[in-house]
Amino acid sequence: MSEKNSGQVWPTFQRLWPYVRPYKLAFVAAVIAMAVYGSVDAAMIYLVKPLIDNGLAEGNASALRWAPLIIIGLFVVRGLGNFVSTYCLAWVSQHVVRSMRQAVFEKYLRLPVSYFDTRSSGDLISKVTYDTEQVSRASSSALVSMVRDGFTVIALLFIMFWESWQLSTIFFLVGPVVAWVIALVSRRFRKVSKNIQAAMGGVTSATEQMLKGHKNVLAFGGQTLEAERFDKVNNRTRQQNMKLAAAQAISQPAIQILGAMALAVVLFVASFDSVLSNLTPGSFVVIIGAMMGLMTPVRHLTKVNAEFQRGIAAAHSVFSVLDEVEAADEGKKTLNQCRGDVHFDQVVFTYPNSEEPVLKGIELAVPAGRTVALVGRSGSGKTTLSSLLPRFYELDSGRITVDGQDIKELSLSSLRSQIATVSQQVVLFNDTIANNIAYACDSSVTRAQIEAAAEAAHVMPFVNDLPEGLDTLVGEDGVLLSGGQRQRIAIARAILRDAPILILDEATSALDTESERAIQSALDRLQQGRTSLVIAHRLSTIESADEIVVMDKGAIVERGDHKTLLAAGGAYAQLHQMQFGEN
Ligand code: ADP
Repeated sequence: MSEKNSGQVWPTFQRLWPYVRPYKLAFVAAVIAMAVYGSVDAAMIYLVKPLIDNGLAEGNASALRWAPLIIIGLFVVRGLGNFVSTYCLAWVSQHVVRSMRQAVFEKYLRLPVSYFDTRSSGDLISKVTYDTEQVSRASSSALVSMVRDGFTVIALLFIMFWESWQLSTIFFLVGPVVAWVIALVSRRFRKVSKNIQAAMGGVTSATEQMLKGHKNVLAFGGQTLEAERFDKVNNRTRQQNMKLAAAQAISQPAIQILGAMALAVVLFVASFDSVLSNLTPGSFVVIIGAMMGLMTPVRHLTKVNAEFQRGIAAAHSVFSVLDEVEAADEGKKTLNQCRGDVHFDQVVFTYPNSEEPVLKGIELAVPAGRTVALVGRSGSGKTTLSSLLPRFYELDSGRITVDGQDIKELSLSSLRSQIATVSQQVVLFNDTIANNIAYACDSSVTRAQIEAAAEAAHVMPFVNDLPEGLDTLVGEDGVLLSGGQRQRIAIARAILRDAPILILDEATSALDTESERAIQSALDRLQQGRTSLVIAHRLSTIESADEIVVMDKGAIVERGDHKTLLAAGGAYAQLHQMQFGEN
């Protein structure tokens, strides 16, 4: 949706329609049921006329005798209308919310990495949970009330005009004023609702951040700080909700007072003899009854309007995610078991959210089956360079090729299936160790293959001590495992994937010697016959690399093998000196 349309009701409806379309039969049934319900409410008031004019005034008992039956009949019809409308609409709206949630979730999976670099995950989570829920509410309870009460209002107006159009024309005078007030508060409702959504995003963010860094918070004594931070966003939500409540509280009586004024005018006009002589007592009661009867649905309408506008604002926020540009995946070619010849050809890259390029013309070849190590100070661009190979970001200029194919011409899934990454921050999913090793592998992977990978990655020694072996649950994000154990699982994952290209990101830092030896031997196993790009801080682990590339400030400043570089006495020798000095 374009900004111009932002928050407008009609365009939002148009966008929502495709979600409703598959369930349109139920939707139509709901609308008919609501129309029945609304009309019955109005008919009740109309029923008073024959009761008074025929029954009471003319003393016709049969009119009175029919009334009880009609009343019961009407209530049964009304009850049916109530059930069908509520049930069908809830059914439709739950389906709509489910599709919207799914759409947002899947959209997140297709958005470029840079989208997530600049947004807090709490905000993004809140869109999936809170915003879609608001759409659901607006499209079920609020919509039921709107259509149903809307029908009652229309039917009551119809009855009034039928009885005396002269008296009812007063509504043409009051109507526009009421419409204006409603439009005004609706706009206010939407604005405040948008703020509430943002505030809820803040609440989710703050909570998520605290839970993620829970141990750090405790260790640094950050409880007060976190509590205060949360209090701020929490209070902001309250303030915004109060604004909504205030607008709601003002709009209801304001519209009722307008209605009362209209009623007063009608009573006043009716007191003139010329008007009065044209009215039967029944008509008079019906008109007054209808006007009074209008109060309740109008009150409902102004009340649910807030909820409805919330839904509109939420739908708008959901659609703005769905409108984001997805990661470019225009490549059509596929790679199957490539050899793994990687070439960075004059690669220049700037992060979308910064101005300075972080990589300034990188020229680097990693021949198939060889290992190239990237070293250099932190911030020199090593991780960035390695993240360009799976095409997490788009280059400013230059190109990257695999087996001579520009990676832009390959489909993302095909390119990424050729690459396995083992990084320092191993992400484990809340599942068994076996399933974590076989993460996203197709179902043809056998248990024996998983065990072989686990064996090769030295996962088995610690897994054998666990109560359920490979079927032990690792807990959320693998909290039950040590850093070294998690890394070995990641290595097993890479072994099982059997991808020809490897990216090893600082895979052996901060480990005890025994763990490191196990991991190093697992890695050696993994690297056999594969093209590897290794980012290492510990120079001891990359001495045997075919080529060592020293990076500084986004450029390659030195390259060669360990011996040559040491002998040259340049940047590498300096880094080496520093590390051995430390040790
Ligand atoms: P290294 O891996 O050598 O430590 P990085 O590749 O992580 O270096 O970072 C290189 C530079 O890019 C740093 O200055 C860093 O601040 C910047 N950088 C890293 N990630 C991002 C990002 N997502 N958005 C903007 N700048 C980034």
